[in-house]
Amino acid sequence: MRDFPNWPDPRAHILRHQPDTAMLYFAPATLQATAKRFQRGFDGLVTYAVKANMGEEVLANLVTAGLRAFDVASPREMYAVRAVCADAVLHYNNPVRSNEEIAVAVALGVRSFSVDCERELDKLAGVAPGSEMTVRLALPVSGAAYDFGEKFGVGPDRAVVLLQKVVAHGFIPSMTFHPGTQCADPAAWGAYIKVVADVARKAGVRLARLNVGGGFAAHRWGAAPDLEKIFSHIRREVNSCFGAHAPELVCEPGRAMVADAFTLVTRVKALRDSGAVFLNDGIYGGLTEARDIGCTDRVRAMGPDGTWRKDAPKARVVYGPTCDSIDRLPDPLPLPGDMAEGDYVFFDGMGAYSRSLSTGFNGYGLSDPVTVAAL
Ligand SMILES: *Cc1c(COP(=O)(O)O)cnc(C)c1O
Repeated sequence: MRDFPNWPDPRAHILRHQPDTAMLYFAPATLQATAKRFQRGFDGLVTYAVKANMGEEVLANLVTAGLRAFDVASPREMYAVRAVCADAVLHYNNPVRSNEEIAVAVALGVRSFSVDCERELDKLAGVAPGSEMTVRLALPVSGAAYDFGEKFGVGPDRAVVLLQKVVAHGFIPSMTFHPGTQCADPAAWGAYIKVVADVARKAGVRLARLNVGGGFAAHRWGAAPDLEKIFSHIRREVNSCFGAHAPELVCEPGRAMVADAFTLVTRVKALRDSGAVFLNDGIYGGLTEARDIGCTDRVRAMGPDGTWRKDAPKARVVYGPTCDSIDRLPDPLPLPGDMAEGDYVFFDGMGAYSRSLSTGFNGYGLSDPVTVAAL
């Protein structure tokens, strides 16, 4: 693994280098603390959804913090995990796979797959005998910032049939769901767990495991979400719906695991008389998600000399650096009145879906992360 220079915090690095490209600062201590929080609080196997951020320093630090199982969606994600942990367990939970992708997974020792239709189950039948097949359930459930159920998952009736087919094929039967990303409402998990128990009962199948997905909210707005409240709600619902036959639990957080471990630092390229700001990063870079689920309110501004801007915030239209007119944050952002050209704007909690969605459009984009002791 690359040896990154270590800085006490982003401010120290900025004072020394005055970076003029958008930067991600990474605090391994924060990532490891979050991984330990999940492992301490969640009563089951904690895995990490690699797609949220597949940086090798992320994967390596999760392994250091004790994670050994990863949710992967593609061969490249599998290889990225294997590069930092040769014996990591891989759960291949992208329910749509080409035969070539399946061959790679089998060669890499994958023994757990999610399925949401019979055709996909048939593709796996000859090649992955004895594996765990996790039937993915989709329900219309609210509570998340972004619903994942529109693309993947089967409804309860078809899940019953699929689960029976899993058993008929000789696979180990499990189930999964994903409540949607940035979900802070424990009731979303509760609603799914009730239906999963019902599906298993109707199918006459005892589930080996229940994977309760990712979706755990990160600290994006207002107060930090109460993860432990979600964990205990999940355990309570599983016990009450399954009684003595409770399956082992698995979770696969992406966002909530990695978000707080990174701060995105952008720079003010220009200020207009209207108060509008042009940053050197936008929706084609680390701020892509702002368009879909809104921008975080965890924003700070600092002058190039390291002084924090303190004036009352002013709602400013924020443009990104590219020449595309949609490169603009959806809503005006409250930014200090005394901001100036050359200032740095910090967006905290930006480790998830920032770098993984960032493009190099128009020659902009993010540099490799700089490691810091604290953000
Ligand atoms: C994206 C995804 C996750 C992670 O979701 P977060 O909202 O980032 O926690 C977990 N599982 C599956 C199957 C996914 O597709």
